[in-house]
Amino acid sequence: MQVRFHGVRGSTPCHGDDIVRYGGNTSCVSVLVDGEDPLLFDLGTGLRYFGLGCGVPFRGTALVSHLHWDHVQGLPFFGPLLHEDTRLVVYAPSEHDGRSAADVLASTICPPLFPIGLDQFPGRIEVREPPRRFDVGGLEVRSAIVPHVGDALGYRVTHGDVSVGYISDHQQPVDSPTRIAEGIAELCDGVDLLIHDAQYTPAEFARKSTWGHCTVEYAVWLAGAVGAKRLALYHHDPTHDDDMLDRLASSARACGELTGVDVFAAREGVSIDLGRG
Ligand SMILES: [Zn+2]
Ligand SMILES: [Zn+2]
Repeated sequence: MQVRFHGVRGSTPCHGDDIVRYGGNTSCVSVLVDGEDPLLFDLGTGLRYFGLGCGVPFRGTALVSHLHWDHVQGLPFFGPLLHEDTRLVVYAPSEHDGRSAADVLASTICPPLFPIGLDQFPGRIEVREPPRRFDVGGLEVRSAIVPHVGDALGYRVTHGDVSVGYISDHQQPVDSPTRIAEGIAELCDGVDLLIHDAQYTPAEFARKSTWGHCTVEYAVWLAGAVGAKRLALYHHDPTHDDDMLDRLASSARACGELTGVDVFAAREGVSIDLGRG
């Protein structure tokens, strides 16, 4: 199983000489397994770069955590959608007001917000609501609710005995820093790689404690508590430059060693080989 980061930022894409090593695209990760169609976590602006390396027609599946811009903004720029035989299945949660994800995407990717409607792309996009457990080819997928601003979804993908967990936007409990929301512990139990929100420092979290995210420290603690083998710090704040991410990753790595978790900060373009399932 190959996990590759195409966009590692949260909130908004950003650029500049000071973030060139970690990258400025928003959330998008691909999971590639021999003999299986590609699987994606989220459709942020990193999706465009994933698409540049895809053959056509494309067949694959996206697991979307929620519909905030930084997680879907890359969808209309996914080049393989310009081929009429492309098929992309998108699993995404419905909105809290009851509107389906398909309705929300169709009502935001259309004139005057975008030149054409989603149904006018040559390729076909099918939007589904994810069950708690389902199969995509030979991959097993589980989903669970993750507290955010409202709720998001977290995912676990398993192939054989190899697994990856994806928790992109996670509201840390404000009053109880050692509590894990129901469902997340089970979802992430013993994963080979946990990709987890690490947007804030403690000082930033103190100012933005209800903005739907968590600290690097909480991510490291949670990874240890669920027995994850590796932790990718993810959904970096757009104000965190390369040097700051180096410092955060270095101290997080030292903390992770205490609980046996191999911690690193996710970077655009980096692939992690989790071995064969
Ligand atoms: Zn986000
Ligand atoms: Zn969000």
